[in-house]
This record gives sequence, structure tokens and C-alpha cells, in this order.
Amino acid sequence: MGEILLHNTLTNRKEVFTPMRAGEVRMYTCGPTVYDYAHIGNYRTFVFQDILRRFLRSRGLRMNHVMNLTDVDDRIIQNAVKKGISIFDYTAKYIEAFKEDMNALSCESPEHLVRATDHIADMVKLIQKLDAKGLTYRSDGSIYYRIAKFPNYGKLSKVDLSGIQAGARVEVDRYEKTDARDFALWKAPKAGEHFWETEIGPGRPGWHIECSAMAMKYLGDTLDIHTGGIDLAFPHHENEIAQSEAATGHPFVRYWLHAEHLIIDGEKMSKSLGNFYTLRDLFAKGHKPSTVRYLLASVPYRRQLNFTADSIQQAASSVERLRNFVARLKEGKFPAGSNLAMQKRAEQAIANFEAGLADDLNTAVALAAIFDLVRDVNTAMDRDEFRQGDARHVLAAMQTFGQIFAVLEDNDDAKLRSIGIDSSTPEISPEQIETLIADRQRAREQRNFKRADEIRQELAERGILLEDIRDGGVRWKKK
Ligand code: AMP
Ligand code: ZN
Repeated sequence: MGEILLHNTLTNRKEVFTPMRAGEVRMYTCGPTVYDYAHIGNYRTFVFQDILRRFLRSRGLRMNHVMNLTDVDDRIIQNAVKKGISIFDYTAKYIEAFKEDMNALSCESPEHLVRATDHIADMVKLIQKLDAKGLTYRSDGSIYYRIAKFPNYGKLSKVDLSGIQAGARVEVDRYEKTDARDFALWKAPKAGEHFWETEIGPGRPGWHIECSAMAMKYLGDTLDIHTGGIDLAFPHHENEIAQSEAATGHPFVRYWLHAEHLIIDGEKMSKSLGNFYTLRDLFAKGHKPSTVRYLLASVPYRRQLNFTADSIQQAASSVERLRNFVARLKEGKFPAGSNLAMQKRAEQAIANFEAGLADDLNTAVALAAIFDLVRDVNTAMDRDEFRQGDARHVLAAMQTFGQIFAVLEDNDDAKLRSIGIDSSTPEISPEQIETLIADRQRAREQRNFKRADEIRQELAERGILLEDIRDGGVRWKKK
């Protein structure tokens, strides 16, 4: 088999991938911050890492893959305080939902799915190590990393440090490139908020130290692959490098892989912009788990994925077409015998499929190889040129595809039921209608008439008619 090329953000080029230890890939994925349901932009990144691990496994490599759950951060703490419950009670629901969503999307479980709050002692140890090397300082009970002491700061994201002032710091975990400053390793406790009593004082970890500590605990000082969405390259991954490499003196990660964003109406889908769908939103509209997975996987990970009503419809019909094709191969009755050309055609499709994936996971090329095969085989069947003995070769190609894309098995209804959605009655509730109407009103106020029309259309498809009444109000009724 040919070599595997992966694009490394560190060098900004495609490189041949070889694991450091023969046969085993040690990989870390930044998991979700469980302060809410994850949105489908998040799942774009998680499906990408699933395609990656499935592909590496198909090459006979064993995965040692760690994904973390960020179950403590500013938003979690604040939301828990607002609700008057512990952070553990607050996050439990979203951790469960995340696991269910990942299962619905047929994402394999990483070998280690670990919680930040179970690793506070490891984070404290790492901070102590940095402290001993003179890389930290304290201010108002918090501990900061002095980035000027790490000469390689910026090597991943190529951030420009020329304008920064020594000692200037940021309090928040998520900030812009222009804010490259000393960041918090450990945050002083605030009144009424959750904190841990530790050897470095009371407080809670910053976001960045969590991933360094958990990655190195399970995978050692140097990992093969680290993945995440492109927004994490700075500051999160830059800070992970600074913490880890300064502590160990070894390179932290050999290949950094970043997924581009899923966008909607030309903007990044994000909670803060309020333009997001959760997976459950899409299921409630009647979309199937396999459709969503296919859509998220079909665009190569380094290209932006533009989420539209049209793209999800197309994904649904592509999956349908592939499933019908497999059914035709399995159930169809063809003349006895076999046709060597057809066997060769199937083998060629497998080779093209694998070559596409080996070229930095080019899922578009890989899919084209399969759809070309489907077209050619359907044509051969229609012309009576397909023989019974050919079916197993073509099925082998479809199986190769299925192991990576995981959309051929017709298990959507069971998956939906497992997260409490009965797909036989996709009825819309009055609350959902009101929410959509409010969204539409907001879109109109922002003069986003395209979105407003889409919402009207969506409601119409679900049997709800809107009537604009005087003074800007809206009435709805069932068709
Ligand atoms: P978070 O829970 O915010 O830490 O995000 C979890 C993962 O989703 C990270 O790898 C993010 O980079 C990724 N992510 C966030 N928004 C998007 C988006 N719109 N498209 C793709 N990935 C995203
Ligand atoms: Zn992380």
C-alpha cells in the first residue's frame, strides 16, 4: 500500500505519516466543552477525526486515541452557579448527550475518553514543573505562563509576537491572535464558585493545561497526532506546545491536524453567534443520523463546509442511492458466471478510494471513486453485462467504503430511538414553532431575509403556515 500523506499545520505542508512506534498511533483530540449541547460544527471536527482513525486502522495501525471532556471552564462554572447546582450535576447531562450524539453519528469510541476534573492532580504536577523551571509567575492568586521565556512560542500558528509586552496577561481562555499574552495556568477561586484545594493553592485549571496534562499522561511526552478545529490552533494549541515542550524538553506533537470550520450563511457556526444547530435539532426536523454523518464527512476536512438545506438533501439522496445499490447487489439475480473486467473495475475503485484517503483524507476523491463504480455497475446491470460472480467483488469495494464512511447500515431509526426520538412521528411542538417564529422575526430585524424565508419554508414543509398580521406580529396555523 502507498504512503499516507497528512497536512501538518506545524510545517504547513503535506508530510508522509509514519507513527513513532511501529504499528501504533498515539493521537489526542480536543473534545467538547460540556457546557451545552455540541453543535454540528463541533461534530464536523469529531467526524473528521473518526474518519482519520478508521482510515489509519484500515491500514493495520492500532489506535491509542485520547479525547478529553472539558468539564470545567468559565462558562460551566458560571452556569452551574446560576442554576445553583454543582458543576458535576451541571455537566452530567451534556456529557451523556455528547456520548449519545457520537454514537448516533457512528463515531468510534476513542480508547480513552477522559474528564478534565479527574486529572487535576496531573495538571498541578505539570504546573509545578513549569514553576521549577522559572516559567511561571503569580498574580492575585492565579498562576501565569511567561511566554517570553519560551523562544518557540508561535511556531504553530505563526503568531506575530513583535508587539507584545512582557508581563501583559489575558484572563480568559479563548482570545484572538492579536492578544498573544501570558495566559493562566491556574485561576484563583472566585466567591461562590467551584475550586480545588491543591499544593499550588486553591483554584481551578486554565483550559490549556488540561489538554497538555491529559495528553502526556496517556500518550507520553511526544504524540504522533493531535487534532482539533482550526480555531484551536491559536491560542489553545500554541499554549499546549509551550507548556508541554517547556516541561519535558521534547517535541510535543509530530503532526498537527486541524479541521476547517463548518459555516452557515457564510459565517462560522458558533454558540456565540447564535446561528447553530445541534444534532438533535436536525433529527427533530426529520434528518437521519447517517445523512448528517455523510454530509459532515463528504467535504475534505481542510475545506470549509457550507451547511445548506440543499446540501443536506443531497447527502440524504446519496446515502439512499448507495444503500439501494448494495441491496441490488445482494438481492438481484444475475446470469451465472463472472466477468473479469468487472472484478478489475471493482479493484480499481478500491485503489482509487484508498488513494483519495491517503492523500490527506481527500474524502471527495474517495467518494467519487465509489460513485463512479456505482454508475458503471448500474450501467452494466442494465445492459445485462453483469454476472452473479461479479457481485462479491463489487460488494468488497462497498464494504471498504462502509468501513470508513459507516453509512450503509440501515440503523437510523434505532439510533434515533436510542436518544429518545421516535422518527415515525416527527411532529413539531408549539414551543418549537414559537422558537422558529422568534428566530424568523430576529432574522427580519437584522434584514436577513434569506434566513427569514428559509424558516417560513421550513415551517411550511412541516405543515405550518404563517400569517403576518398588523403591527409586526405573526400568527400560525396547521395546514
Ligand atoms: P469546543 O467545545 O468549543 O471546545 O469545540 C469542540 C471542537 O469543535 C473543537 O475542535 C473546535 O475547534 C470545533 N469547532 C467549533 N466550532 C466549529 C465549526 N463551526 N466548525 C467545525 N469545528 C468547530
Ligand atoms: Zn485541547
